Amino acid sequence: MPEPIVIDTPQAMTEWAVEVGRRDMTLGFVPTMGALHEAHGSLIDRAKQENDAVAVSIFVNPTQFGPSEDFAKYPRPFEADLALCEAHDVDAVFAPSPEAMYDRDMRTWVEVGGLADNLCGLSRPGHFRGVATVVAKLLSIVRPDRAYFGRKDAQQLRIVEVMVRDLNLGCEVVGCPIVRDPDGVAVSSRNRYLSVEERRQARCLNQALQLCERQVDGGERNAIKLIEAMTNLVQEQPDAEVDYIALVNAETMQDLEILEGHVLCALAVKIGTTRLIDNTTFEIAPE
Ligand code: AMP
Repeated sequence: MPEPIVIDTPQAMTEWAVEVGRRDMTLGFVPTMGALHEAHGSLIDRAKQENDAVAVSIFVNPTQFGPSEDFAKYPRPFEADLALCEAHDVDAVFAPSPEAMYDRDMRTWVEVGGLADNLCGLSRPGHFRGVATVVAKLLSIVRPDRAYFGRKDAQQLRIVEVMVRDLNLGCEVVGCPIVRDPDGVAVSSRNRYLSVEERRQARCLNQALQLCERQVDGGERNAIKLIEAMTNLVQEQPDAEVDYIALVNAETMQDLEILEGHVLCALAVKIGTTRLIDNTTFEIAPE
């Protein structure tokens, strides 16, 4: 595979993307924070299948981290990331510095009303403002035909879909399936923080989702009962601390009392000091 071209300024990135368009080629885009793994690889492969050229951004976005979060220690294995991009036949890697992305006088922020008030938005104030703003900026810079996001970050995906619609950002937003390791744990850059024992305990997130699915299959529709059962399962792990376990409408992110329609079951759990998220969705026909 040829090495991807590495671009570090917004202007050069836009010039490259415009050239792709001039050649009548479609462009797929995969935004990431680096520390790439097979889930990122699956997004890239999907983008390669559906487009003539693919760009990946690697940018640990400071504005989506809270003051007590892991921005400084977030892994940045740039050479390994480039190797993964090369192995997946990426055409361009956009890796700007924070200074290149954010003017010192930056004043414009994107907030997507209502969708950030629950789930991760509750426990990470300002997080989705940072996410929406950086994704809007990246889409303006890269101007892709299609942008690829994982369903692991279901709330983020919904916020991006609505933002792209509301701001006429003119690309198709493609949601991609959650990639899991054989033990059921959703692949994540943060899994590398886990000790062997914590990694074993991290299986409780997916196990709770499976328990919920089984109970829903068995006819349970009461959100409080389902959340209680999932909470009990998670709390069996000595190092697990529930941040939230929620059943919400998958379009509005608002809590449900009785499950109906397109339902998102999402949870965030701290295993030791590492905060992990996972989710599943189901469709429930009205009685
Ligand atoms: P990140 O680098 O963590 O910001 O993630 C970049 C993209 O990869 C986002 O759209 C994530 O939703 C997606 N992603 C990360 N982990 C997974 C996973 N296990 N399955 C599917 N998509 C994922």
